[in-house]
Amino acid sequence: MRAYNFSAGPAVLPEPVLRQAAAEMLDWHGSGMSVMEMSHRGKEFMGIHAKAEADLRTLLAIPPSHKLLFLQGGAIAENAIIPMNLLGARKGADYVNTGEWSKKSIKEAKKYCTVNVAASAEDANFTYVPPQSRWKLDAGAAFVHCCTNETIGGVEYHWTPDTGDVPLVADMSSHILSRVVDVSKYGVIYGGAQKNIGPAGLTIVIVREDLLDRALPICPSAFHWKEQVEADSMLNTPPTYAIYIAGLVFEWLLAQGGVPAIEKRNVAKAKLLYDALDASAFYVSPVRKEDRSRMNVPFKLRDESLDGAFLKGAEERGMVQLKGHRAVGGMRASIYNAMPVEGVQALVDYLKDFEKQRG
Ligand SMILES: *Cc1c(COP(=O)(O)O)cnc(C)c1O
Repeated sequence: MRAYNFSAGPAVLPEPVLRQAAAEMLDWHGSGMSVMEMSHRGKEFMGIHAKAEADLRTLLAIPPSHKLLFLQGGAIAENAIIPMNLLGARKGADYVNTGEWSKKSIKEAKKYCTVNVAASAEDANFTYVPPQSRWKLDAGAAFVHCCTNETIGGVEYHWTPDTGDVPLVADMSSHILSRVVDVSKYGVIYGGAQKNIGPAGLTIVIVREDLLDRALPICPSAFHWKEQVEADSMLNTPPTYAIYIAGLVFEWLLAQGGVPAIEKRNVAKAKLLYDALDASAFYVSPVRKEDRSRMNVPFKLRDESLDGAFLKGAEERGMVQLKGHRAVGGMRASIYNAMPVEGVQALVDYLKDFEKQRG
């Protein structure tokens, strides 16, 4: 029996996708091969790759001005790759600090450029998104970086920053494809696939074409966006199996009605869970209401001595990976696209039952 998996990543995948992958494992479409065994330059895999790219472009409504890359290294590698690709002749970049993942981006960027922390939510333990009126942007910055969904803290931007002529760069690892986004407002969007797309190993990078001429000479070829654009993301061997599974997820999303339809479901799922947490004094949801993430819902038991019993009881009911990140403690329910509403309802029922027993 499959569990309800609340992992923050690698995370739950749609069951029909896993079934299809299982059925196609030994012989993909009569090729006599698993996708894992195919040449990345053969016609079978080239077709899988092209279809996955086209479907993702459709799902996100990526305009022709923006290139789409399927790379490796994850978002943490991109934290270094971004300054190497975008600094050009400039020496500094603006970063907005909303929590653990912003901090990691800042730390890495400092190896390559001067970082101006334009705003920080550290004053309230990273429980909110600083409004843009408080950002101290530097007009000479090469770019402005933000993490639009903090996976650990559970803080999400529900608005799009306006950085004028300075390109906006967003780490969307944990909420890409969960909501409608106007891609044209961003210079770069990036994210690892293992939260809301597919298996670990695939990194999505969406970059505005006019930004491709700013790479530093030291930028490694495999991470050089312009070289990768020219090579159709195949300058090195791409993560072929991860791209195949991501492609199946894109087909599944299109069949669900695309991003607007999945966003509606995500809004309803998040409301169900936050309403249950808010209705009780037994549980605490630390994030400011306007900035709560729809994808990652951290919460605490007011009596932390019950954490172990809570997690054990959840597992007995088939709900796994609810333990919060070690940086913040407590619990975290990640409710990505592939988490069915039944899973959220099961958690809500359990929250009530556990409180009745122990409250
Ligand atoms: C998971 C995550 C990362 C790290 O991704 P890796 O694939 O481990 O490099 C970075 N940013 C955010 C917002 C994440 O959720």
